[in-house]
Amino acid sequence: LEPKEEYGSKALAQDVMRPRRSDPPLAVLTQEGMSVGEVEAMVADTEYSGFPVVVCQDSQRLVGFVQRRDLVISLDNARQRQEGVVSTSQVFFTEHVPPQPPSGTPSVKLRGILDLSPFTVTDHTPMEITVDIFRKLGLRQCLVTHNGRLLGIITKKDVLKHMAQMANRDPDSILFN
Ligand code: ADP
Repeated sequence: LEPKEEYGSKALAQDVMRPRRSDPPLAVLTQEGMSVGEVEAMVADTEYSGFPVVVCQDSQRLVGFVQRRDLVISLDNARQRQEGVVSTSQVFFTEHVPPQPPSGTPSVKLRGILDLSPFTVTDHTPMEITVDIFRKLGLRQCLVTHNGRLLGIITKKDVLKHMAQMANRDPDSILFN
């Protein structure tokens, strides 16, 4: 089978990515400005395997991607081993961390667990190409952007579900087209 026929040539990344219109917004972390408590709450309130990190909520410019398990381990470590870390301590994914004000609590630096070049496609990338990228690179997830703004995420499972849907739809398109 031609890849085109296999997956339907018309679907775009924006048709498969999450969140859907009715879903809650994409769960993202900002590279600075969040506290340990806020990051822990986001992890506790969701079950996602990972989180995109953006410059700020307004810009939605992508900085990187952090795996949930690395985040959990690093925050636990910071709480246990880093003197003075509490819920209000600030979390930084940036390269430069501002010097600590004498009265403040120490910052938690998480740049080390950030994947700085996560794979991205644009919202108009055909799924045919996106599926190919997943296959050839063995991706677990891929981020979707539009003009540099982060829009959504596609996981391997999302791709498999999409392919299953296309496979079911095929007989109809053969019958009625
Ligand atoms: P899987 O697709 O393997 O179950 P996840 O648990 O990470 O992987 O994702 C579950 C669903 O939530 C998928 O449809 C995915 O597109 C979506 N998703 C993943 N990460 C996020 C996120 N940070 N914010 C919003 N939705 C997400």
